[in-house]
Amino acid sequence: MSSFQKHHSQELGALFQAKPFQGQDPEKAKVIILGNDANYSEEISEQDFFKFILEYHVDGVKFWKKYGVHHPFLLENYPLNKTGGGVPYHRNFSKLGYTSEHAEIFSFVELLNIPTIGVTSTNLEEFWGLINIEHLKWLESIMLSKEPKIFFLSRSVLQRLQEIAKKYNIFSWLSDTKLEASGLQAIYQKDNTSIFVSYSFSASQIHGVIDSIRATIDDFLKKKDFKSSIVGSSKTERLPESEKIIKTRELPSVVETKISPNPPSYDCPVCNSKSTKRTSLVWVKGQSRSKRKTSGLGAIFFGKRTGVMGGSMWSTTDNQSKLSELTAPPTFFGISDFLGAILVCFLIFPFILALFGIPQETASLWGKNFFIFATIFMVIDDIFVYPSQKRNWDASFFCNRCSAQYIPGGKILKQ
Ligand SMILES: [Zn+2]
Repeated sequence: MSSFQKHHSQELGALFQAKPFQGQDPEKAKVIILGNDANYSEEISEQDFFKFILEYHVDGVKFWKKYGVHHPFLLENYPLNKTGGGVPYHRNFSKLGYTSEHAEIFSFVELLNIPTIGVTSTNLEEFWGLINIEHLKWLESIMLSKEPKIFFLSRSVLQRLQEIAKKYNIFSWLSDTKLEASGLQAIYQKDNTSIFVSYSFSASQIHGVIDSIRATIDDFLKKKDFKSSIVGSSKTERLPESEKIIKTRELPSVVETKISPNPPSYDCPVCNSKSTKRTSLVWVKGQSRSKRKTSGLGAIFFGKRTGVMGGSMWSTTDNQSKLSELTAPPTFFGISDFLGAILVCFLIFPFILALFGIPQETASLWGKNFFIFATIFMVIDDIFVYPSQKRNWDASFFCNRCSAQYIPGGKILKQ
């Protein structure tokens, strides 16, 4: 058996990052089981069964309601050794006898916010290396919140919390707690928070206190008279089904996109080539090799879109700069364009007209009108056209084969 370390599954790690708990979110839960770390069998991620673990981590409350067991380790088809890897922990918890009707009440949170393998005590140094202060501060804030909550922790978890208190000045309010020899012990009671210490649910001694823990939880739930609690309450006090469903659907978007079964295709919708790349990346690469385009004055003469072409007359024309032109982002009219418009409309344009014998007054009137028109055009373009063009460009991909630009799963921008 491997010594204690971080579990190698990146998928599981990512789910933990998004939700560093199991079952209900501890901020919403009433009863919180606080452990050292979330233990898994090393080989769990290589099994087909792993999909149940992932499903559970996306929504533990929903999982309990769907499968009738609070944790995938208790499913009949769990394929690995049932005497280790976190299985006894959850089997013993299930001996409390709560059913899926209580799914919203229970949360499992650990001192470490990452999945692990092996027993913590086999590599304590590793445990301290994996400690995340922000996670611990979050835990402390939940413990000290005014929300009515009851916590159960093992002796070793309390010891760790006291060591953390010495090192990091978190949980220092637990520093002076003295432990009794055995049994279930209340160590903290303030406002609406009660903290009890007994044994880890993975330890055999837990069997001796299962009944006391059950009675303590029932007592707590009755006393606080929770609207959503099942214990001792009538049907009318329960949440309506629809509300329950909404609650169980609250998922961080990170997790949703991560397990989305149908990501959009990045292949070119025009020629089906797989050789595609984000347009902005192609452009940036081209930029580094080609000269900057002239803009400003040129843009006024040729219009924004053709201004880029005009500019390219003076720039190098190797493949990279061609690519850069093809993939250039939409431009917006800035102060230099405005100054350019003044120069053109009030000086250059009247001067050219004068060369053709047009009276100066007429020429400057034309220049003024042209300036007003150009200004309105630039402002409208900057406000109404540019933003959506830029958004599309940011999201677009470029086909190396046919030069099409498109939004994956969306429209074709250039062909
Ligand atoms: Zn293509």
